[in-house]
Amino acid sequence: MRMVFELDGLFDGERVIENAGLVIDGGEVAWVGERRGLPKSAPGERSETTKPPGGFALPGMINCHAHLTLDGDANFAAEVTQNDTQAALKAFRNARAALRAGVTTVRDLGANGTMVIELARAIDRGLVEGPRIIAAGRGITTTGGHGLEVGRIADSVDEVRKAVREQAHAGAKVVKLFSTGGILGGGAPPELSQYSAEETRAAVEEAHKAGLRITTHAHGSGGMRIAAEAGIDSIEHATLLDEATIRTIKEHDVAIVPTLLVVQSLLDHATELDALVVERTRAVSERHREGVRAAHRAGVRIATGTDAGASFTRHAAYAVEVRLLTECGLSPTEALAAATAQAARVVGLDKAGRLGRGCWADIVFVEGDPLADPRTLGSPRGVYVRGAAVA
Ligand SMILES: [Zn+2]
Repeated sequence: MRMVFELDGLFDGERVIENAGLVIDGGEVAWVGERRGLPKSAPGERSETTKPPGGFALPGMINCHAHLTLDGDANFAAEVTQNDTQAALKAFRNARAALRAGVTTVRDLGANGTMVIELARAIDRGLVEGPRIIAAGRGITTTGGHGLEVGRIADSVDEVRKAVREQAHAGAKVVKLFSTGGILGGGAPPELSQYSAEETRAAVEEAHKAGLRITTHAHGSGGMRIAAEAGIDSIEHATLLDEATIRTIKEHDVAIVPTLLVVQSLLDHATELDALVVERTRAVSERHREGVRAAHRAGVRIATGTDAGASFTRHAAYAVEVRLLTECGLSPTEALAAATAQAARVVGLDKAGRLGRGCWADIVFVEGDPLADPRTLGSPRGVYVRGAAVA
């Protein structure tokens, strides 16, 4: 059964079509274009014009960086010690919260076990409702390094190879490395490079051999350069960018996922956080925005991710990231592309992030033009995933 939507406007991942028509057939988009060009249905073909839940449609949005097992508790250290059953239940609930907020694809970049890999499988099989999930399983970090709470340790070239193989075997669909220290948790500080060039190359080689993309957590420029030169696919946070690092990243065509929301959320709740976390966040936040602005000017690919699950960063708050990107110099169209087509490219799903013939029918309906007013993204009027309306 084909469903036909007549719309005031539609963003297809790159550009806006005014007075648009959208036809979906099963789980895929069958036609997109100006409304007056809507194809007549063939004789005998069942087709139904459906009133859209909102006048403007855009591709289902993609969160390139989330931790579904975590709610964003003020006390990160306490939340990460939860048991596996609680983690799995939260992942289920947070995945649905993200979906209702218009996020039809979530890339989970680290959990303390295989629960998100299992959740992704259950959703794929239709056992439970949820967004598409690309799960990393456990991240890979060093002894005393950042990210151990959602990772496992690997301290040498051989151990890094083994760790990547282990995650691939467990069913991970992306590999997550921790190239530098971090802000939350008690591990190494943000600017410290955790992995050598040899270790990073081994991780990239093993991930690519398994047919997986590899992304890395990196705040410091040294760690970002090592990762970019080793052939990493994307860099998470990209906090302390300088001109030389931006050049290296651009040269190697590495995408960045700046996760501006987590930094903003930590600063907004400074009084409720551990002093060390606040100090580390304040020290980097201005340089972070300047770096993202410079990277954008240099033509570096940028995609949206929020680090949802880190303290005070909620899974449903995704739309704020789109607005924060415009504060770093992206035009509204570029920011919306970062949330859709660009993000799809980063996570490696060529049928997601766009509304075009043959793409997945993952659709967000909003009221009003989200390019004129990005706040409309924060309250979707309807979400479709795999061609089905989300309750
Ligand atoms: Zn993270």
